[in-house]
Amino acid sequence: MKPYTAVENSFTQIKIKTYKVMLPILILATTVGIILEDFNDTNDMVNQYSLPILFFWFVALYPLLLRMNSRHFKYIEYCTFVLLSGLFLLKFWIVVHYQLGIDGTYGLGEFFDWIPLYFIFIFFTFNGKRALSISLLFIWTTLLIATYEIATTHYNRLILSPLIQFHLSNLVYVIALYFLQKLKEVFLLADANKKAANTDFLTNLPNRRYMHELLQDKIQKGNKLSVILFDIDNFKKINDRYGHDIGDLVLKEVSHLIKSHLKSDSVLGRWGGEEFLVLAINRNAAESAVLAEEIRRLLEQTRIEPVGVVTSSFGVTEFGQNDAIHSFLNRADKALYEAKDSGKNQVLIR
Ligand code: GH3
Ligand code: MG
Ligand code: MG
Repeated sequence: MKPYTAVENSFTQIKIKTYKVMLPILILATTVGIILEDFNDTNDMVNQYSLPILFFWFVALYPLLLRMNSRHFKYIEYCTFVLLSGLFLLKFWIVVHYQLGIDGTYGLGEFFDWIPLYFIFIFFTFNGKRALSISLLFIWTTLLIATYEIATTHYNRLILSPLIQFHLSNLVYVIALYFLQKLKEVFLLADANKKAANTDFLTNLPNRRYMHELLQDKIQKGNKLSVILFDIDNFKKINDRYGHDIGDLVLKEVSHLIKSHLKSDSVLGRWGGEEFLVLAINRNAAESAVLAEEIRRLLEQTRIEPVGVVTSSFGVTEFGQNDAIHSFLNRADKALYEAKDSGKNQVLIR
């Protein structure tokens, strides 16, 4: 499905951007780790290898990312995932097997300061349920390692606390991330629903509901305001001659053409059928009539194939002191009707 692929692609683009921002920090972190690591400390074999491995992986990723397309990016993610998971699990086993409670160490060490980032990375890489399963599998694995080590190699009451804290805090991170992701989905859905409710499906313009709300809002704020109501001339003939699909195409082309002409102080919406409304903020009727004339001429000078030139008639009016939204729009409608009546393809102020 096309729209879904588009969403996926922009999603991946954001991910790639995040990698680009994060990688320099991770490269710095591993560099600091390598420089300050005590390489004579043979107990820390993993740090000796893992830090340089991570450093080279992060450095190698950067130029790759610059030339990355969305399709190949997932392999980078999977490789990074396998690498990080392997290192974390290996390091965990080494610490529990050789260090914890044996050489006077009663903490898991600074390497595991990064563990929250690991879970964030998993939720960043995989979606919802899968991220949850992978994270829980990771926690389950470390729990098995810990239990096995405690049962077979050494038991020391003092090592229980760091191990229990480690697992419980990981569980909290994972559950929090899962619900955070759910929350984000709900927000996104609400956002998408709101957008859909306010957007015209065919032209992608704000629909009548939205324009009405916007109008009410601007009136309430006391903004100087005028509207241009316009309607395509002889549109029924276009439908009759070229078919409904070409009629739709004309509506889309006209929308696009006019929207690209407008500046940020005016909003174009589809009012219904082949009728559109421009809401012009901080303009009086005369100023809006100038804008309407520009649009009229723009349409007159543009060919929309296969139909050719499509013209419109325009009614312009400004919001007066004694106006209500209804009287205001009614006047615009009357002006438009008069423009039609006087021969179409013209602007009329009322
Ligand atoms: P006038 O110059 O007086 O405005 O004449 P007109 O033919 O443009 O107006 P009329 O109201 O007679 O016809 C409007 C037509 O627009 C009728 C309707 O079928 C068509 N129409 C309304 N909405 C759509 C749409 O979304 N797509 C298409 N293709 N046609 C539509
Ligand atoms: Mg019409
Ligand atoms: Mg009409």
